Amino acid sequence: MTASGKISPLFSAAASAELVSLVIPVYNEAANLAALWNRLAPALAKLDRPCEVIFVDDGSTDASLTILRDLARRDRRVRVVELARNFGQHSALLAGFRNCRGEIVVTLDADLQNPPEEIPRLVAAIEAGNDVVGGWRQTRHDSGYRRLASRLHNRLTSAIVGVAMHDYGCMLRAYRRHITDTIVACDEKAAFVPALANSFAKRIAEIPVAHAERAAGQSKYSLFKLAHLSLNLVTGFSNLPIQAMSLIGIGISVLATLMALVLVGHRIIYGPQQEGALWTLFAVAFFFFGLVFLAIGLIGEYIGRIYLEVRRRPTYIVRAVHGAPPDDAVAAEPAPR
Ligand code: UDP
Ligand code: MG
Repeated sequence: MTASGKISPLFSAAASAELVSLVIPVYNEAANLAALWNRLAPALAKLDRPCEVIFVDDGSTDASLTILRDLARRDRRVRVVELARNFGQHSALLAGFRNCRGEIVVTLDADLQNPPEEIPRLVAAIEAGNDVVGGWRQTRHDSGYRRLASRLHNRLTSAIVGVAMHDYGCMLRAYRRHITDTIVACDEKAAFVPALANSFAKRIAEIPVAHAERAAGQSKYSLFKLAHLSLNLVTGFSNLPIQAMSLIGIGISVLATLMALVLVGHRIIYGPQQEGALWTLFAVAFFFFGLVFLAIGLIGEYIGRIYLEVRRRPTYIVRAVHGAPPDDAVAAEPAPR
């Protein structure tokens, strides 16, 4: 975005062309961190590129932070971003994006559900020219309700974002830096990273990845938290719910008008009936009922527009300007007559 000057077209100068950044959100994962590092370190060695690992401690109340800080002392590639309290997985990812320096950014969970051994394949897919690469969990190791919720979530997200993907929930993903920079610049309060990333990307790929059961501890997502995430997604990406109000309102008013016409016809053919007045009252009431819905929808439409403005997502993002430099372009403009 250039108009507000909020997102620079040149992106972060700190980015290093060779560097791969791993961003791992951690919330009470003390029991998993040693095993994670034991598998992550060899996977990074296979990458054959310089890398850094950004652990974001999302307000853990167990020993996670101590373990991570110890790791950072022992290995110079490791950094720990400590959040003041628990902000949620996606906010933790944003904090990680803001604090990493790589040209390619890979995210994964700390509970070993995402095998670190898959990282080189994700990086290779980005190097092949994709802006975003999503992992697609082939065999899910989650409970039945989680799998059902995921299926609904994928359909919903695909429809809302306008990019069909099999697996929006898999957090083993890789991004080009300009995507994570744009997400950071949006600074949204209820961000859903995979959906936001797809709405800013030109080339998106999905590659099959393995999935494992949680190594230790419990999932941090209850059914309520999942529903909340989906609701945030819908309201964060479209005004559809409020627009549906207007449509329902128009539908009710049209039906009420039809009902009134039927009543008039009935009266002409059969003459006045005893309960005719009651039905007429119904038709009138329904008509106004519809108008009220329509009015709510219209108000919502305006609020929706205000919301779009307040949200300040970029309307467009200039990645580079090719051809004549801006000065030439100005000089080439026809002189005023
Ligand atoms: N997580 C986090 N903050 C939270 C919830 C989760 O940083 O508020 C981290 C968690 O430590 C893990 C990842 O996000 O590394 C995924 O969480 P979880 O495994 O609970 O989610 P699930 O796999 O059940 O979707
Ligand atoms: Mg998990």
